Amino acid sequence: MKIAIIGSGIAAFEAAGTARTLSPEAEIVLYSRERVRPYRRPALSRMASEEVSEVQFYIKPQAFYDENRIRLELGRTLTAFDPDVRQLKFDTGETESYDKLLLATGAHCFLPPVPGMELDGVMSLREYADLERLRARLDAGVGRVVVIGGGLLGLELAQSLLERGCEVTVVESCPVLLPRNLDEEAAAVVQAMLGKVKKLTLLFGSSVSSILGEGGRVRGVELPGQTVPADLVMVSAGARANIAEAAAAGLKCNRGIVTDCLMKTSAPDVYAAGDCAEAGGASYGLYEAARMMGAAAARNMLGEAQPFVPQIYPARLSVFGLKIFSAGTLSGARCEVEHNPETGVFRKLFYNEAGCLAGCILVGDLRDALKLQNQIAVS
Ligand SMILES: Cc1cc2nc3c(=O)[nH]c(=O)nc-3n(C[C@H](O)[C@H](O)[C@H](O)COP(=O)(O)OP(=O)(O)OC[C@H]3O[C@@H](n4cnc5c(N)ncnc54)[C@H](O)[C@@H]3O)c2cc1C
Repeated sequence: MKIAIIGSGIAAFEAAGTARTLSPEAEIVLYSRERVRPYRRPALSRMASEEVSEVQFYIKPQAFYDENRIRLELGRTLTAFDPDVRQLKFDTGETESYDKLLLATGAHCFLPPVPGMELDGVMSLREYADLERLRARLDAGVGRVVVIGGGLLGLELAQSLLERGCEVTVVESCPVLLPRNLDEEAAAVVQAMLGKVKKLTLLFGSSVSSILGEGGRVRGVELPGQTVPADLVMVSAGARANIAEAAAAGLKCNRGIVTDCLMKTSAPDVYAAGDCAEAGGASYGLYEAARMMGAAAARNMLGEAQPFVPQIYPARLSVFGLKIFSAGTLSGARCEVEHNPETGVFRKLFYNEAGCLAGCILVGDLRDALKLQNQIAVS
């Protein structure tokens, strides 16, 4: 049996490894448009300013794939597939067959439809090739950067750019910081602390209406009532699932490729996992969820009916010397708040009507993070 996996992210990696554990004889091939073997994508944001060792960056050394007979076909982009005849088509014009297919194509950065996105010096960071382009640009010298999007990734990127000596302005359309990970009270605490960071400007409740250029190169962004100069604009405004090939092949797609909890799509013997999938009506965009979906897809391809069971996926952020953790539902019938303005330590616990812990936000002191996460999971 030939298992073809499209993508080389964590969902693809986990699926390949799980499939090999369950089936010593299956042919397992991983096709990816990226030219590097599977790596830890979250490391990319800090790698704009930091050297990360190969052991920390790559999920496994090449020897792992050789020993487990997992064939890596890198630099190959799937352009189309036909589920009726089980055929894959690649950008080179080559075709391949499969018995079981896993789509683990991940997501791409969303580029808001504002004029000027095509200018030289407007970039986003999703894949290793993006990191190489960003590093080359920074090495050539960048003074001022605007980051569009003040979410977790936007702030991580802002930190790396500050470390590279840039002056950074983060523009976020929501009126508060990290709206998916903090409530208003916690956002105000964090916002006040980040306001003290030198060479960092945070503009909330403001949207970029256009990116300005001169001679084809970016020179700033236009906001209501002001222009912010920039030599580089980084777009970090969310991600969209890579569904084009699946939709063209007639698979049911919404925001992601629709799957059931066994990661099966609407086409026979075609599965989807990770950021490209919408499993049981939900999309996650999170590393750990992608990993678990990849494992579930492989098990189900090989006949073990084991569903993907979503967990509590907490958010963690460590930027500008500030540590933030949040998990669960950030509202409730009752909450407990502790805040020490001198140390900056903030802690808010949310309880549901039954009195059980439903969610928490920790800033500054994360020692209880795992304990609280486990309490939320069982309540
Ligand atoms: C900078 C950054 C920081 C992040 N930090 C965090 C974090 O701290 N915590 C967290 O939980 N999540 C984080 N994420 C999100 C996390 O990385 C993703 O949820 C996870 O990588 C999804 O894994 P995946 O395998 O589904 O897809 P991906 O990792 O996106 O991999 C998809 C692969 O498919 C390939 N591909 C796509 N289309 C084709 C095609 N047609 N043909 C061939 N190959 C194709 C792509 O090139 C890519 O290699 C971060 C993401 C980024 C970009």
